[in-house]
Parts: sequence; C-alpha cells; structure tokens
Amino acid sequence: MAIPQEILDEIQDKTNIVDLISSYIPLKRSGRNFKALCPFHSEKTPSFFVSPQRQIFHCFGCGIGGGPIQFLMQIEKVNFLEAVEILAKKLGITLPRRTSPQDSLKTQAYSLNKEICSYFHNNLFKPQFKKILNYLKQRGLKEETIKKYKIGYAPKGFKNLIEYVRAKGGSLSLLDKLGVISPTPDGSYIDLFRDRIIFPIFDIKNRVIGFGGRRVEEREDLPKYINTPESILYHKGETLFGINFAKQAILKKDYCIIVEGYLDQIIPYQEGIENIVASLGTALTPQQIRMIGRYTKNIVVIFDSDSAGKISSLRAIDLAIEQNLNVKLVKLPPGFDPDSFTREKGSQDFLKLIEEAEDFFFYKLELLSEKFNLENIQDKSKLLLEMLSTLSKFNNALLKYEYLKKLAERLKVKEEFLLIELRKIEKQDRKGPSFKNNTFLKKELNFAEEYLLKSILHKPELLAIVKGVIQSREFSHKTLRRIFEECFNFCENSEDFSLKKLLTRVDGELASQISRISLEEFNFDQETFKESLLKVKENSQKTKIEILKEKIKEAEEKRDYLQLKTLIPEYEKLVREQKLR
Ligand SMILES: [Zn+2]
Repeated sequence: MAIPQEILDEIQDKTNIVDLISSYIPLKRSGRNFKALCPFHSEKTPSFFVSPQRQIFHCFGCGIGGGPIQFLMQIEKVNFLEAVEILAKKLGITLPRRTSPQDSLKTQAYSLNKEICSYFHNNLFKPQFKKILNYLKQRGLKEETIKKYKIGYAPKGFKNLIEYVRAKGGSLSLLDKLGVISPTPDGSYIDLFRDRIIFPIFDIKNRVIGFGGRRVEEREDLPKYINTPESILYHKGETLFGINFAKQAILKKDYCIIVEGYLDQIIPYQEGIENIVASLGTALTPQQIRMIGRYTKNIVVIFDSDSAGKISSLRAIDLAIEQNLNVKLVKLPPGFDPDSFTREKGSQDFLKLIEEAEDFFFYKLELLSEKFNLENIQDKSKLLLEMLSTLSKFNNALLKYEYLKKLAERLKVKEEFLLIELRKIEKQDRKGPSFKNNTFLKKELNFAEEYLLKSILHKPELLAIVKGVIQSREFSHKTLRRIFEECFNFCENSEDFSLKKLLTRVDGELASQISRISLEEFNFDQETFKESLLKVKENSQKTKIEILKEKIKEAEEKRDYLQLKTLIPEYEKLVREQKLR
C-alpha cells in the first residue's frame, strides 16, 4: 500500500458518509438511518441504507456496502487508491507523491498512442482514401460511429507511421514499446499495420491502449485481423473492447452482452444495443470477468455458430459462475455473427435472441449430449464429470442442488450418486466442505460466526477474547475467515480496533459483508457470545478430526505405517479433548 495507514485513517475519520453519498443521490431519513433507491442496481423501493452512526452504507438488494472509500469505488468505478485520492482532495489532505519513472513513461505512451490514433483516423477523411471510407459505410458503419470509435486507416507502405511520428519529433523506441512497429533483420523498423482498417482499443478511462487492424484486400495469405502485441499499455485478456462506451448502459440494464470481435460490438452498439463488449478472443479470461463483475452480475455470451461448440470457451464460462455471475448463452443461427445478424435482421430480432438466451448449465448439457453417446458408459461418465465440474463452481448451494436434481433426472442417474461424485471434485478443488448435507448445522454455525463478528464490531474490547480462543482459519465461512484475519491483525500490531479502520483495509467483497453485518439489528448478550465462541471452536475441532480420519483411511489403504504412526496419536488427542468439553 502506497498510502500510510495514518493518512487513510485520517481521511476515513474526517469524511462524513452522509454528505458524501447525498452529493450523488438524494437520501431520506428513516429512523436512525438514511435510505435511498440504490444507485448500483435498479429498484422501485429503497433497500439502500446509510448509517451516520457507523459511517457505512449497505444495499440489502444487491449486497454492496462498505465505507466512504467503497462507495466512491463503486459509483466512480475507480480503484482503491483513486478513491482515496478523491476523498483526500475534498478534505484538502495532501497525499505522498506516488509517481515513478515507469509512470511518466506510461503518460508519454498514452499521449503518443492518442496521436497515432488521430493519425489513422484522419487518414480516412483524406480524398485519396475515400474508397476506404465508402467501404466502411457500405459495411453498415455510420459516419458518427466511425468518429465515435475513432476508426482509421493505415495506408499501404512500410514507413508511413514511422515517418509521421518522426516528423513530429516522436521516438522510435517508444513506438516500439507500443507495439505498432516491428523490427526487421537489418536493425530498422517497419509499420505493423499496412493497408488495414484500424480499430483503436480503449481502456475503461477512454485512453487508447492498442489497435486492431483488419485487412482491406480479401487475401487468404494475410491474416484477417492483427492486433497490437503485449505492450507497456496493452495486455491481451485484461481488457474488453467497447467497455468505455458500454459501462453506463451495463449498469443501467444490469446485464452485459459479450461478443467476440470488433464489429460484433460496434454494429449492435450503433443500433442501440449499448450494453455490449467484445472479448477479442473466444475464451473469456478471469480478468475480463472481474471487470464485468464490477458493473453487473448478469452476462449473456453470444457465440458464432462455429465457436459455440468449443469446450474451451465453455470452460471459460465456468470461471464466471465461480465468481457468482449468472451466465446465459445465445447461439446464433448458422452463418451469422452478431455483426451480420444485426445488419440483416435488425436490432429487435437481436434483442429477441437475447430474451430467449438459454441458461448456461442446460446449454452445456445439451451441447455435450450431442457430442457424447449417452448409451456408452465411458462417454456418459465423461459428460458427467464435465457437468459436475461446472456444478462445483456454484457458490449458491440451493442453485447447485436444483441443477444437480435436474442433471440426475436428465441422465437417469441417482441423485445420491451425483452428490458423491460432486463431493470428490470439490475436494480436489480444495474448496472446503461447502456443500454440507446438514444445512441446519451450517446455519447455526454461520449464526455463531456472524454473532462473534457483530460482537467485536459493537464492542471492540472483545476482539482480544475472540482471538485468544479461535484462530482465523478455524472459521468455516470463507469470507468471515478473511474478515477475522484482518481483525486479528490489529491485535498483532497492538493497534486500536475500529469499524472505520477495518474498512480501509479490506476489499469490496469483505466490505459489503462487514457493512451488512454491522447494519443488522443487534443486542449484545453475554451468554450468546460465549455459546458462539464454543460452537465455532467445537466445529473446528470436529472438522480437524474429520480431516484426520480421512488421512488415516488413505494411509491405511496405502499401508503407509510410518504416516499412521504420527496420525493416530494426533487423532486420539483431539478426540480426548473433545470429550473433555
Ligand atoms: Zn443495490
């Protein structure tokens, strides 16, 4: 972290969250709190609360919450440091400078990229390249779209861009770092894009980070598209084409359409479907999914008919499910891509396809059923494995169970059997026992763990007591475990613990949990506190025993007597301890 903790605490202390939030949306008093229509999801009755006492906000509709920093991160779509900078500026607090030589190089790189982008774009409007502009118009691009996307043209020849930049006093080495020129064997350079239509790639802040070039002549010996390689600004797979234009619409519509190519994004956008981005590759990356996750939990992936069947692209979507995104899929009719479909059938038909989008799980099942022969036992088990690995990604236990039932029905397999297989996969994923049979026990445990957190948030002096009994890894809930880890750090650094300070040290997911838990009704009760401590401890002991049992069984199967010699006494000790309680 570049900003000292004292300054963070000062900023958090001096900011009034009610003033901050009401400068964005109107707040209405409601008892001790304020409420409003949530700015992060669309709703008709307010579920967005702001607590002046605790200096936090939380939306009980979409689950987003935290302190002033988290609010700014969400509403301004900025990162942690940028949010802190905004608050510091409002308060007149100066932050330590954090520029490095790398930063100033990047600043130069952005401005050179902008220059290059204008060069390509202006070419299109020169008389000698009029036929290129006309070609684009025939292709269905309106002039305003061409201007908005800064689409351009790189002429034939090897040194056009190089000469242009040289004449302006720009440096070849920076051009090289931007990936727009290629070195030749004789030690000089040539332009990367020659006789190509240029699509600039913008980042979320509208800065040009790279370019894609489409061939003009339909020559089979030339690749249809080439892109800027990895450069100091462009990192393939970390960006989404069109996100700078689409972000507002994604927020508003609360879903994001994902397509593959430049024109697949541009043409539907031009026709009014604005919540759309392109992955610039068939497989979505985790970074891209996280980027979308900042705006919406709902995605609709559109496949061309030829890429739809690729298992690799389906696997990528498992990633989205793992991050709690709802995924639907649309397969276009043969011969169409989103670009040609919108041009030929119109945006209404395109939207209709989206309305009929199929749930990812069933889509995958159907696809695999076509691919594998269900009469063949080995094929069937391959299919099962593939489907169960998707199921194991769901964090929502109820959803997981519903899908599992449907899968069992469809494949005529017993649910119990699928459950056993699913557990095996989950164990391999080392995701912990998240699919416990006994939901009642799990609820009780969850209550106890949350009760402990509520207790320390309301009575910070209890933190040391909790830490004395339980280690953070003994909490069964993944998020709570991470929250307690942060809390316990205060003790280790012998720092005073407070909700405000805690919120400057956690990510958005944790902040949302913390804000929810601290806004919920709470009356401290000594007995419940003690019981909760015991319950959490007891469960962790039980889990340890279960794990040991499992290990002993494995060692027995392998006849690993050496291993058994250490495992069994450990096991007996734990069981004795448990009985004493
Ligand atoms: Zn909300």
